[in-house]
Amino acid sequence: MSSHVDGYLRHIMDTCAVDRTGEVADYIPELAAVDPDGFGLSLCVHDGHIYSDGDSGVEFTIQSVSKPLTYAMALGRLGVEAVDAKIGVEPSGEAFNEISVDDRRRPKNPMINAGAILAASLLLPPVREVADDMVAKVFDELVDFYSACAARRLRIDEQVYASEAATGSRNRAIAYMLDSFGALDTAPDAALDLYYRQCSIRVTTDDLAVVGATIANGGVNPRTGRQAFSGQVAQRLLSVMTTCGMYDGAGDWVTGVGLPAKSGVGGGILAVLPGQLGIGVYSPRLDEHGNSVRGVEACRHLSSDLGLHMFNVTRESRVTIRSVFDISDIEVGPDWSEAERGFLRTCRDRVRVYELQGDLTFTGAESALRRLEADIDDYAVAIVEISRIDVIDPVARTMVLAMKRTLDDVGKRAMIVDPDGVVRASVDRHRRDTIAPNLNVPEDLRGFDPTLPHVHATMDQAIVDAEEFLLKQFTDR
Ligand code: GLN
Repeated sequence: MSSHVDGYLRHIMDTCAVDRTGEVADYIPELAAVDPDGFGLSLCVHDGHIYSDGDSGVEFTIQSVSKPLTYAMALGRLGVEAVDAKIGVEPSGEAFNEISVDDRRRPKNPMINAGAILAASLLLPPVREVADDMVAKVFDELVDFYSACAARRLRIDEQVYASEAATGSRNRAIAYMLDSFGALDTAPDAALDLYYRQCSIRVTTDDLAVVGATIANGGVNPRTGRQAFSGQVAQRLLSVMTTCGMYDGAGDWVTGVGLPAKSGVGGGILAVLPGQLGIGVYSPRLDEHGNSVRGVEACRHLSSDLGLHMFNVTRESRVTIRSVFDISDIEVGPDWSEAERGFLRTCRDRVRVYELQGDLTFTGAESALRRLEADIDDYAVAIVEISRIDVIDPVARTMVLAMKRTLDDVGKRAMIVDPDGVVRASVDRHRRDTIAPNLNVPEDLRGFDPTLPHVHATMDQAIVDAEEFLLKQFTDR
């Protein structure tokens, strides 16, 4: 069954695909040769489930999206204090390859090339002569680390690596400048070599989404359950990605999108909603800052259409299913005939109640509805009880209502017990179009019945409705 989330992703991709502005990176032939129309989008939620669309299986080079990962490795190995002595955390407001340092002669942050080359240098032995096989050994460890974050064995693109190394005059200038300040404890060429290799690792948007979810999850990869890095490191990555990840215009990014993110000139963007999910986007046409044009737009839409801005304030970010039970313990009502009651007693286990609690936003609705879908063979009627839900996001409401329609389509029924009229209020608000004027409801989700059938004020009413539904199925047979 194609889920409602897939519909949203498709809609966002379709909206962004019309934009053909921007140019693919052409400083090396391998990047200039990619399909400029390639476009992939993936979302990895907190339990590791991945939604993806478009060219989500196409590999591209990670480029600068590697910067937070190498920084994470350095933080894990040397500790925060030692790394902070070498690399600042201030946004530079300058281009990624600007040759710039702060007044302590530290690169301003780890997301620009100067900081990234320095972070790579910290992984190498502090000697002036570094043998090639030593760089290769450290690179193997680096690939192990990246792979642990992506839950997949990653590989280098040898051609891109060779080209990066052959053409990197500007990066060489940066490394030698750092060296002239005494900032490097290792050989500048070794640091550069490691940096070029890390930029040349091939990834897909699924990989980036999983890495993002690992950061979102405090360093625990949700697909493997393994801790790739500490919660403290995750917090640090989120901080620098928020202030420095998208180069210039950090303020605009935080207000307009509100997702810590990192872009690369290969066309990839990794974005994170802390505590909730990771996003990977790929589209190689770049804007003047070196960020993917469609990637930026897709992030904008995810944030506004799905309510994924990190400062979308809710009290409990994750809705939980408080309990699930069938109605075997609830007596059949007295209003039916003896024969009807007899039948209804045989199918009490076909009615399942799901009690939710928390604030129902995109993430919460997604996980609750996926559970309902997974259980679909176990019930004829699903009663979703939301008396403990105080706030329901417009997008979550649309998803819940779309779920009702999905069940209708397979001859089942969803009912909602909503004593406080939360769904009703949210529909009214949405009609006035004040709460989410930007909400783009995908085509196939438009036009659901606005009269909200099967939304009940009490559980008793919902059960009577469920019994009617079962009896109707019975007599229709
Ligand atoms: N390899 C590229 C460089 O070092 C990476 C830059 C980027 O993705 N922004 O210039």
